[in-house]
Amino acid sequence: MADDDNGTIVVVEDEPAIADLLDVYLRRAGFRVVLADNTDRGAELCASEQPRLVILDIGLPGTTDGLGLCRQIRDAGTTPVMLLTARDSEVDRIVGLELGADDYVTKPFSPREVVARVKAILRRSDAGPTKTTTLTHNELSVDLTRREARAGGAPVVLTAREFDLLVYFLRHEGAVLGRQQLLDGVWGSGWYGDERTVDVHVRQLRRKLGPAFDLTTIWGVGYRLS
Ligand code: CA
Repeated sequence: MADDDNGTIVVVEDEPAIADLLDVYLRRAGFRVVLADNTDRGAELCASEQPRLVILDIGLPGTTDGLGLCRQIRDAGTTPVMLLTARDSEVDRIVGLELGADDYVTKPFSPREVVARVKAILRRSDAGPTKTTTLTHNELSVDLTRREARAGGAPVVLTAREFDLLVYFLRHEGAVLGRQQLLDGVWGSGWYGDERTVDVHVRQLRRKLGPAFDLTTIWGVGYRLS
């Protein structure tokens, strides 16, 4: 068994000593760990690595801080988030949980406790209502638990939103889907944006998935997966 069999965790932390400590303990627990020391790099990794969980410091350099990145991750999908908060910052903890973080630990923390809490969060999120774990269409397959897509057996790297859009198409195979329906179903009804956003993501899916993704454009209406 590979030693990174438990999946990938993205750690966004700008204090090297803390990042290293988490790296060591999480690897020992069987996780693959990818580190970022600012929110911009953290956002990139969350999109490209499709981690099972993100550990996020709040005080971080970058375009936004840890709470801002937490909000972005929550807006993009269901990846669990654990926050690292400073000792006296109750406000950060409350705001973080309101933004959808799954748990927090207060610095200084015991790395063993962090690992135990990470495992608890993953057990909870795996025990969710989704029991169908794989969807297929032509040579496409999507593993809902691991959030992995494959085309012709080869893994395809999708952003969280592209992944969710693909899943939506697979679950509505054969149906004509309007752009507004796709926005509501994938982006959520609280999302205000242009319907062309859907077209941009469809273009990415077509480019990344190739001919196995035989999505037809229905002019003036939307899309249908044949
Ligand atoms: Ca910090």
